[in-house]
Amino acid sequence: MKRLVLAGGGHAHLAVLEHFAKAPVANLELVLATPSRYQYYSGMLPGWLAGHYAQAQCRIDLAALAARAGARLIQAPVRQLRADARTLELGDGGRLAYDLLSLDVGSATEVSALQALGDKLLPIKPLDAFFARWPDVLQAAQARAGFCLVVVGGGAAGLEVALAAAYALRGASCTASVHLVASESGMLAGHAPSVQQRALRCAQAARLNLHFQRAEGHQDGVRLADGQLLPADCVIAATGAQAHAWLESSGLNLDAAGFVQVGADHRSSSHLQVFAAGDTCARNDLMLQKSGVHAVRAGPVLAHNLRAAITGAALRSYVPRRHTLYLLACGPRQAIASWGGLSAQGRWVWRWKNHIDQGFVRRHSLAKSGSKPAG
Ligand SMILES: Cc1cc2nc3c(=O)[nH]c(=O)nc-3n(C[C@H](O)[C@H](O)[C@H](O)COP(=O)(O)OP(=O)(O)OC[C@H]3O[C@@H](n4cnc5c(N)ncnc54)[C@H](O)[C@@H]3O)c2cc1C
Repeated sequence: MKRLVLAGGGHAHLAVLEHFAKAPVANLELVLATPSRYQYYSGMLPGWLAGHYAQAQCRIDLAALAARAGARLIQAPVRQLRADARTLELGDGGRLAYDLLSLDVGSATEVSALQALGDKLLPIKPLDAFFARWPDVLQAAQARAGFCLVVVGGGAAGLEVALAAAYALRGASCTASVHLVASESGMLAGHAPSVQQRALRCAQAARLNLHFQRAEGHQDGVRLADGQLLPADCVIAATGAQAHAWLESSGLNLDAAGFVQVGADHRSSSHLQVFAAGDTCARNDLMLQKSGVHAVRAGPVLAHNLRAAITGAALRSYVPRRHTLYLLACGPRQAIASWGGLSAQGRWVWRWKNHIDQGFVRRHSLAKSGSKPAG
């Protein structure tokens, strides 16, 4: 009997669980170790903030998926990985040995410059914690005239969250102001200029206060690079992905930012028994954006390769497409589409996004185990 441990219930592991549910491998013990029973779908978080979705619509029940795959679910985070000894230490005090390990543990939010904010700081990840804390922020904004919310981060997540929060605060009749702090490179760096212009118009229409300079945390708010202090009641950090600190002592090859180095087959470049996908990995053959799209698309390849690592079959490569489609929610039921140099916008883009996002959650919630023989 061999043991395959899936650490994290991230996007790629959804495909892995479904793969093993449809076609179990004989003499394989499957274990899923993850902190929460639910996997929240980040693409729907802005829609939840804006009030378009209930929280339960934005998540996938990992317990049900694990049960269908015949996997044992351990509801605890990995706290320590010792790749040479092939063991994990978990948050519940348990120790777990493995023959094969797959990491899809996502990333944390990079908040090193914002620590001085203390309780005012609300990192966008982990998503469970964000879902739990936002209702209190909304309540505080309703209770206090002139509430000031600052969102730090000029990427897609920061923009979507700022627009959704502004929409929610207006809908709750709050007299609140919302600031979006992006760096000097502006909003949505890496997207086409037409996407950036659409985003700017949306931000202006939502009356976001925009700041294009770096921010540092302060006990009263954020200090901008020009010295101005922006007092804030709450600061949401959507400041990009940071590798989990426990990877540092894992013994795995990591890139300069601490993410697990993998090849095109998503196998660790240092340990043959370890695979990684999603935000937690860094490809050594190309630069892969930290995005849900890549985590989802790498899923079936990861599933195949985990099976192949057990059965001795050939591994496959995950080959990303040249352009990735991003559908950015704008607060009300409107969205911007960004694909390479092309962009579009409107209610129909929102309906498209809604169809994809709800379809994704529904597919993983309703999937049944298949009847293929073990192999
Ligand atoms: C607001 C927002 C909107 C976004 N919208 C989009 C979008 O529209 N399109 C897009 O492509 N990307 C989007 N992203 C980026 C996307 O969220 C990430 O790139 C994606 O979630 C990465 O998937 P993942 O599987 O690597 O990790 P995650 O989806 O973060 O999953 C990680 C899993 O690991 C678990 N975990 C965490 N720590 C541990 C631990 N120590 N031990 C065990 N398990 C652990 C978590 O509970 C979770 O189950 C958005 C991000 C945000 C914040």
